[in-house]
Amino acid sequence: MDCMTYKFSIDVDRCKGCGLCVSVCPKKVLEISDKVNKKGYFPVRQAHPEDCNFCGACYLMCPDVAISITETAEDDREQE
Ligand code: SF4
Ligand code: SF4
Repeated sequence: MDCMTYKFSIDVDRCKGCGLCVSVCPKKVLEISDKVNKKGYFPVRQAHPEDCNFCGACYLMCPDVAISITETAEDDREQE
């Protein structure tokens, strides 16, 4: 009984706000934030995280490797 879940994260200071991930997301989860990051760009954020299906399209598209999607095994975590 595998219970896999995924964790989505954005390294806001790597993001240059190019919007490629926003345009490629099939679920319209992402949007450009109105807060500036350390480099002076407007980074992307998950506006609708509940709609994300972890398809990985944004992660594959990002030229700056600012998005990561990691697998987490719920069962493993509970046994720790
Ligand atoms: S993993 Fe897929 S659904 Fe989730 S934000 Fe990225 S492109 Fe959108
Ligand atoms: S593709 Fe990468 S650099 Fe461009 S907005 Fe998305 S996370 Fe930021």
